[in-house]
Order: sequence, then structure tokens, then C-alpha cells
Amino acid sequence: MPTTVKAYAATSATEPLTPTTIERRDVGPRDVRIDIRYCGVCHSDIHTARGEWGTTGYPVVLGHEITGIVAEVGPEVTRFRIGDRVGVGCLVDSCRECTYCRRGDEQFCTEGYVETYSSTGRDGLPTQGGFSEAIVVTEDFVLRIPAGIPLDAAAPLLCAGITVYSPLRHWRTGPGTRVAVVGLGGLGHMAVQLASAMGAEVTVLSQSLAKQEDGLRLGATRYLATSDPDTFSRLAASFDLVVNTVSASIDLDAHLSLLDVDGTMVNVGIPEHPLSLNAFSLLVRRISYAGSNIGGIRETQEMLDFCAAHGIAAVVETIGAEQVDEAFDRVVASDVRYRFVVDTTTLA
Ligand code: NAP
Ligand code: ZN
Ligand code: ZN
Repeated sequence: MPTTVKAYAATSATEPLTPTTIERRDVGPRDVRIDIRYCGVCHSDIHTARGEWGTTGYPVVLGHEITGIVAEVGPEVTRFRIGDRVGVGCLVDSCRECTYCRRGDEQFCTEGYVETYSSTGRDGLPTQGGFSEAIVVTEDFVLRIPAGIPLDAAAPLLCAGITVYSPLRHWRTGPGTRVAVVGLGGLGHMAVQLASAMGAEVTVLSQSLAKQEDGLRLGATRYLATSDPDTFSRLAASFDLVVNTVSASIDLDAHLSLLDVDGTMVNVGIPEHPLSLNAFSLLVRRISYAGSNIGGIRETQEMLDFCAAHGIAAVVETIGAEQVDEAFDRVVASDVRYRFVVDTTTLA
């Protein structure tokens, strides 16, 4: 029998989130049922709730930065036991057979991976996210949270962490790499910590210097304001990699001018409106403009283990479920230090 659990749902682009109940499927042979303890508030939840990426199907239970405790396992589950500390990110299933799934890049599944919410599961039912008491997920898409990371500070790693770890690895960040992180929010504060732990020289580009001390404490060696007209000329052609985490449209040409020969700007931010650039900004120094979408399950586990080994986690502010709307407004106003995490026991 499916189980009814309490949740918070977006019902339209403009209404506040409302308490509701949803059904979680019965635990199948290879399923894990997780009692959710924390779920991070990602800016993607806000874009989705507010219909900024096109048609959102309402009602929808958001949240894809989930941590909790295994409460039940199916008879064929081999990797998890009741009581294990686990996480679920943006992916809950995929075809498992295509070239990309077989090599652990489920985010590129040719059949389209199943997202944690706003998607249709392989059982044909709509998926619902982590602003809820429990979730049932096939064991192949469940992550193990290392013992050294508290469950609240681990939750944002499941989206914000992997979304910046994957491009940092892909573009071979290491000692000597000059990295600029644009925007010190949820993704940005993870990018600074991860790039710095990989040995890179990290500069933060923020709208103002208000969070400078935090940025330097997280591992950056320089912190500059994009509102200062001298910033772009001072830093011209001085980076190998620019990681753009900004949730809104920015001046791409100005940011591309920061790259040295053969440098790359990778967009992980997904603004509501299309971005545009001048071709000259790319060809002058053979610059690449790229994008990156979350990361696969194998790489997500690698990122969690990397964080544990380097003493890295998200900086979080824990809130009750009834505060999510207020948290959405604060994130949009860049008033987040650096990730809100919902304590899901407040749903009860
Ligand atoms: P966030 O916490 O709101 O961080 C974004 C940061 O961008 C803000 O803290 C702010 O930093 C800066 N910013 C905001 N508005 C700006 C503006 N108008 N001009 C310049 N800078 C601005 O959001 P997040 O959760 O990190 O997510 C960031 C973006 O990544 C969102 O669009 C989200 O949907 C997307 N995302 C993509 C993926 C993926 O797979 N590619 C995964 C997760 C999220 P400062 O205050 O320092 O300026
Ligand atoms: Zn996210
Ligand atoms: Zn596939």
C-alpha cells in the first residue's frame, strides 16, 4: 500500500506554498524508503515554483537536496540498511542502459533521467521532492553521507555541491588553476570551498563587498565587486575558468573578458531569460563558453567523500517548513548565508 506523508507544495506561480499530503509508493524489491530529516532550498526550486522556466505542473512538492535515515529496504537491496545516513539529489532514476548511464553520467541519459520532482517516474507516477516527510527511491540513486558531515550541512551538497564539483573536475581544476566564482550564494559558496580544496587560486566576484570576509574564510584569496567599474579592467585575461553561478542575466562579454587564452566560462546559473554575447568576446583569446548540468551518481558520491576528506560542508541556516516562502524571497534578494535547509520534522 502507498503511504501518505505530509509535504509542502507550490500550487501556483504566485501563491505561498501550502501544507498538503502526498502518496509515496510501496517499497519495491530494490527500493529504499528514507525518513527525510533535511532538505535544502535551491534557487532552482524558486525558478520552478514561480514558473520562471516555462510551464510548471502544479501542485508540485519541491526540494532536491535531501538527507535522512533509511527506514525500510526492499528484499533485494544490497547497499543500504535501516538506520543508514543517506542522501538524494536531483536524479531518482534513469534508463541505466544507454552509453551515458553505463558510464555513470545519468544526467545525460538519452531517455531523459527522472528528476526528483516535476518529472514522471518509471512507475508512471509524478515525482515529488524533499519538502516532505519521506521518499522512496531505488537504491542505485541513493547516496551515502560520510560520517563526518552532519545531515543538515550535507543536504546542499546533493545539488549545489555536485553542480559545481562536476565542472571543476571536468575542466581539470588543480594547483595553479586560476578560478573566478561569480555569485556567492548556495552554488557559489560551494564552488569557492571545492576549488580551493582542489588547490586552485580562487577569486570571488560578487555584486558588492558585503560578504568579503566570508568569501576569504571559505578559501578565496581575492574578492572583488562587479559593481566597481575598475574590477573588469583590473582582472582582464587573468583566469583559466570562470564559474558563473548567477541566477539572473549578467553581462557575459564583461565576464568573458576575464579569461586568458583558451580559458572557459561555464554557466551553471539558469536565468529566466536568454543570455546573449558578442562573438568577438570568444574569438579574441580562443575562449570557450560552456554549461554544466548537476552530475551523475558516481561523481556525487565522489564529491561527498571529497568533502568529508577535506572537512568541507555547506554553511546552512535551518528553517521550519512554514518559513520556506520567506526563505525564497531572501534567496532572490541575495540575503542567504549560504543555504537555507528545511528541518522536515517541522512538517509533523
Ligand atoms: P543563489 O543562492 O540565489 O545564488 C546566486 C547568487 O548570484 C546570489 O547569491 C548573488 O551573489 C548572485 N546574484 C543574484 N542576482 C544577481 C544579479 N541580478 N546580478 C548579479 N549577481 C546576482 O542561487 P543558487 O541556488 O546558488 O543557484 C544559482 C543558479 O544556478 C540558479 O539559476 C539555479 O537555478 C541554478 N542551478 C543550476 C544547476 C545546474 O545543474 N546547472 C543546479 C542547481 C542550480 P552575490 O550576492 O555574491 O552577488
Ligand atoms: Zn538544485
Ligand atoms: Zn540512460
